[in-house]
Amino acid sequence: MRRNRRVKLVATLGPASSSPEMLERLFLAGVDVFRINMSHSSHDLARELLYAVRRVSKNNRYPIGVLFDLQGPKFRLGTFEGERVALKRGDVFRFDQTESNGSAQRVFLPHPQIFAAVEPGHALLLDDGKVRMRVEENKAGRISATVLNDGTLASRKGISLPDTLLPIGPLTEKDEADLACALDLSADWIALSFVQRGEDVADVVKRVEGRAAIMVKIEKPSAIDDLDAIIAAGDGFMVARGDLGVELPIEKVPGLQKKITRKSRAAGKPVVVATQMLESMISSPVPTRAEVSDVATAVFDGADAVMLSAESAVGQYPVEAIQMMDRIAIQVEGDKGYSALVHATRVEKQPTAADAIAAAAHAIADTVKLAAIVCYTATGSTALRVARERPGLPVIGLTPVPATAHRLSVVWGLHTVMTSDPANLSNMVSKACTIAFEEGFAKPGEGILITAGVPLGSPGTTNMIRIAFLNDRGEPVAG
Ligand code: PGA
Ligand code: MN
Repeated sequence: MRRNRRVKLVATLGPASSSPEMLERLFLAGVDVFRINMSHSSHDLARELLYAVRRVSKNNRYPIGVLFDLQGPKFRLGTFEGERVALKRGDVFRFDQTESNGSAQRVFLPHPQIFAAVEPGHALLLDDGKVRMRVEENKAGRISATVLNDGTLASRKGISLPDTLLPIGPLTEKDEADLACALDLSADWIALSFVQRGEDVADVVKRVEGRAAIMVKIEKPSAIDDLDAIIAAGDGFMVARGDLGVELPIEKVPGLQKKITRKSRAAGKPVVVATQMLESMISSPVPTRAEVSDVATAVFDGADAVMLSAESAVGQYPVEAIQMMDRIAIQVEGDKGYSALVHATRVEKQPTAADAIAAAAHAIADTVKLAAIVCYTATGSTALRVARERPGLPVIGLTPVPATAHRLSVVWGLHTVMTSDPANLSNMVSKACTIAFEEGFAKPGEGILITAGVPLGSPGTTNMIRIAFLNDRGEPVAG
C-alpha cells in the first residue's frame, strides 16, 4: 500500500466520519492523519476513535497518525436577559464582573484574566468578529468599549482579544485533563490552540517529555510576533486560518500562510495548512474553483499537509472531499512548474552530519537517477532532515519505533514502514531493497540510496550512505 503523492492529508473526525466503516473508507481514499477535536469529544469518545484508527492502521499495515487537538483558552460572555441584544455603532458597552443577566448596556464577563490585561485602544471581537468594539477604559473591574458596527450579541458567545497579551498559561484546566487523556492513549501528536508565546510551547514540550509530538496552532497575532521562538520550540505547526482570520484582518492570512510555511520548512518541522480548504464540500459534491486553487497553492508552497475540518467532521461528502484533495495533490505534484516552485526558497543547511547526509542523499539521487531514498531512523530526525530537502524521489523511512512511524505520517513525502533494526550491514542493505521493492517504490534493475547509522540501532548516529541496485527478486545485486 502506497500513496501517489508527497503532501499528506489530515481529516477531522466528527459525526460524519467516526464509524469504523467510514474511517476505513477515508483512509483508503487518502487520509494520513485523523484529528480528534477535543472541543467536541469526551474522553470516552476520544478513546473509542483512537482505538478505531489504530485498528484501521493495523489491518492495512500502514502507520496512520492521530492528532489530539486541545481546545485552548476560549473566552465566553455571560448571559443576556432574553438571550440576545441588538447593538448599534457608537454605543458604549460595558463588561463587568457582576454575575447577572446582561442588557444592551452591559454583560457579565467571567474571566478575571481579561480585566487584568486589557488596555484602552485594544480591539474586542465578539462572536468570531461579527461585533467589534474598541476598549475606552478598564477601571475598577469594568471595561467600557465603543461598539464599532451594528450587530446582535447572544448569551455565551465567544470574545477574542487580538491585541491583548493575556496572563495565562498555554493549557486550561480542561486542556490539562485532555492532555493527560491523550498521553494515556499514546496519541501521536497533540495540538495546542491559541498559543501566545514560544516559552509556553517550550513548557509543554518539556512536560510531555517526548511522549507525544507537539503541534502549535498559529492563530493569534501574539504568536505571529513570537513566531521564531514558537518554531524553535514546537515539533510541528498548523496554519489555523479560521481563528487567524478572526483575530487579524482576513486579507493578511495568505501572506502569513506563506511565511509560516516557509519558516516551518526551513526548520525541517512539518506544517499543516488548515480550515475552509474545501468548505463548500460540506454540502456540495464538488468544490469551487477557488477552493481547488487554495489546496493547490498549499501544495505548490511545499506544505507538509492539508487539512479538512467541517468537511470531514460534519459534511455530507467526507470521502469525496478527501478524494478531491488527493486528486489536486497528484495533479499539482505532476505539474512541470512544481519542482521549481517547491524549491524556490533554498533551505540553509545546518552544520550537522544529518544535514550533510540529507543534502548529499538528495544530490546523489538526482545524479544517479535512483528510485527511492531509504532512511533508517529511530527518532525520525534523519527522515525529517531528508524530507526537508523536498527531494524529487520517494523517501522511505524504516523504523522499529511505532511512535516514530505514526508521527512521521504528517510529514511531506515520507512513506514509513515498521521493521526491526538490521542485524548487520548486509542485512541493512537487503532489508532496504526488499522493502522498497515490496512496497512498490523500486523495480528490478533500479537503484536505491540508503542512509543509516553505524553502529546499527543506536539512535542519533546517521553517518553513512549506501547505494544498492535491485536484482529480479528485489534483492541487492551482489558486490
Ligand atoms: P479550530 O482550529 O478548527 O480548532 O478552530 C483551526 C483554525 O482556527 O483554523
Ligand atoms: Mn482555531
